Amino acid sequence: MCANLTKQSNFDAIIIGGGACGLMCAVQAGFLGKRTLMLERNDRVGAKILISGGGRCNYTNLHTTAQQFISANPHFSKSALSQWTVDDTINFFETYGITGQEKTLGQLFPTTNKAKDIVEVFTNLCADLDQTIWLETEVKAVEQAQGGFVITYERYGKTQQITSPNVVMASGGLPVQKLGASDFGLRIARQFGLNVVKTVPALVPLTITGKDQSWYEQLSGNSIFCRVWNERISFEENILFTHWGLSGPAILQISSYWQAGEVFYMDMLPQQNITDLITAERATNPKKLLLNLLAGLYTRKFAEALSSMLPVQKNLASLSKADLELMEQLIHEFKVKPAGDKGYDKAEVMRGGVDTDELSSKTLEAKKVPGLYFGGECVDVTGWLGGYNFQWAWASGFVIAQQF
Ligand SMILES: Cc1cc2nc3c(=O)[nH]c(=O)nc-3n(C[C@H](O)[C@H](O)[C@H](O)COP(=O)(O)OP(=O)(O)OC[C@H]3O[C@@H](n4cnc5c(N)ncnc54)[C@H](O)[C@@H]3O)c2cc1C
Repeated sequence: MCANLTKQSNFDAIIIGGGACGLMCAVQAGFLGKRTLMLERNDRVGAKILISGGGRCNYTNLHTTAQQFISANPHFSKSALSQWTVDDTINFFETYGITGQEKTLGQLFPTTNKAKDIVEVFTNLCADLDQTIWLETEVKAVEQAQGGFVITYERYGKTQQITSPNVVMASGGLPVQKLGASDFGLRIARQFGLNVVKTVPALVPLTITGKDQSWYEQLSGNSIFCRVWNERISFEENILFTHWGLSGPAILQISSYWQAGEVFYMDMLPQQNITDLITAERATNPKKLLLNLLAGLYTRKFAEALSSMLPVQKNLASLSKADLELMEQLIHEFKVKPAGDKGYDKAEVMRGGVDTDELSSKTLEAKKVPGLYFGGECVDVTGWLGGYNFQWAWASGFVIAQQF
C-alpha cells in the first residue's frame, strides 16, 4: 500500500456501485446535506434499472410486505421496509414527475413505460445535490485504516486510492455479468470476516433434459396460466414452454423456492375442475372429442401434445373412470422435474448473500465493522418477481443514507 498515492477525501461516504441501492443512497444523503462519491465500473449508472421489466422498470409493488422476501432471517427486511415504504417510493418518483400505473398483481411501472425516466430522476438529483459519480471506475479493494477505509480503484487504466470514513457496499449480486455484476460485495464481506449465505441464481428459467425434453420443446412459445407449487409455496401466473424447458413469471417465482434435484407441480387449470367441466360438457355434447375440449381450454398445439399422455381421440361419453382420474392428475397435478436452471446470466436476482446476522437490521451497518454498510442485492434478502427487489434496493439505500 503506497500511502503517498492515497487521496484524503472529504466525502462523508464512498458508495461502491451505481445501481438502484447506490443511487437512492447518494440522493438521500444529498437531501441531508451529506456528500458522497459513487464509484461505478460501467460507463453509465443504473444499467439494470434500464433493462428491468423489459425496459419499462417495475419499480415497486403495492403489496410489499416482508413475506415476499426470502432470507435466512425472514424478519430482517421489516425495519428497512418500514423506514422507506412503498408510499415513500411512489411519492418520491411522483415528486420528480413519474406517475405509476399498476399492470398486474400490484406491479407498478412508470406511465411512460420508460425505465430511463427512473434513472434520470437519480442522475438529475445527483447533479443538483452535488453528489459525485465516477464512471468506469472499478473498485479493487477496501481496507480498514485509521478513521475509516482506504479504497483502491482502477480508473482510466490507473490504480489509485482514496480514503473515506464510511463505505456503502451497493455492488449488487451475481446475475448478468455483462451489466456489471460482480461478487465484489461478497468478497469484501468475507474479507472482513462476515459470513455469506450460499448464493444461487433466483427468478431464473428452469431447464428440462433427457427423455422429457422433446415434449417441452414441441410446445416452445406456448403459454398457460397455472398454479405452480411445491411444499413451500404456490404461485398463480403464466408459464412459458421453451425449447430448453420452462420460463414465464410462475416458473421464475417457483425457481426461487426450488433446489436442484427437487420436483414441483403445476395445476394447469387452477380456477376450474377438469372432471366437472367434462361432466357438464358430456351432458350436452357427448360426442365431442376430448381433443376439442382441451383445445378450447388451451391452444390446439397443447391439446395435441397431451395426446402422448391422455386418450384425446376418445369422445367425452366414452371416457372411463380411470381416464378421468388420469386427467385429474395430469391437468391439476402435473409433475415437473427440472434438470437445472439457466444460470446467473438469465437470472433476475441471486438468492443468498451477506448474512443478515452480520448486519444491524435498523442501520444495515456491519456489526463487526463500524462504518461499513451493505444494501441492495448483495444482502441475503431476495424479493419475489414483481417490483419487490427494487423496493428493497430503494429502502436499503435510504436507510444507509440516514446513518453516516
Ligand atoms: C433482466 C432483469 C430484469 C429485472 N427487472 C426487475 C424489475 O422489473 N423489478 C425489480 O424489482 N427488480 C428487477 N430486477 C432485479 C433488480 O434489477 C435488482 O434487484 C437491483 O438492480 C439490485 O440493485 P443493487 O443496487 O443492489 O444492484 P445493481 O443494480 O446490480 O447495481 C450494482 C452496481 O454495482 C456495480 N459494481 C459491481 N462491482 C463493482 C466494483 N467492484 N466497482 C464498481 N462498481 C461495481 C455494477 O456495475 C452495478 O452497476 C431485474 C433484474 C434483471 C437482471
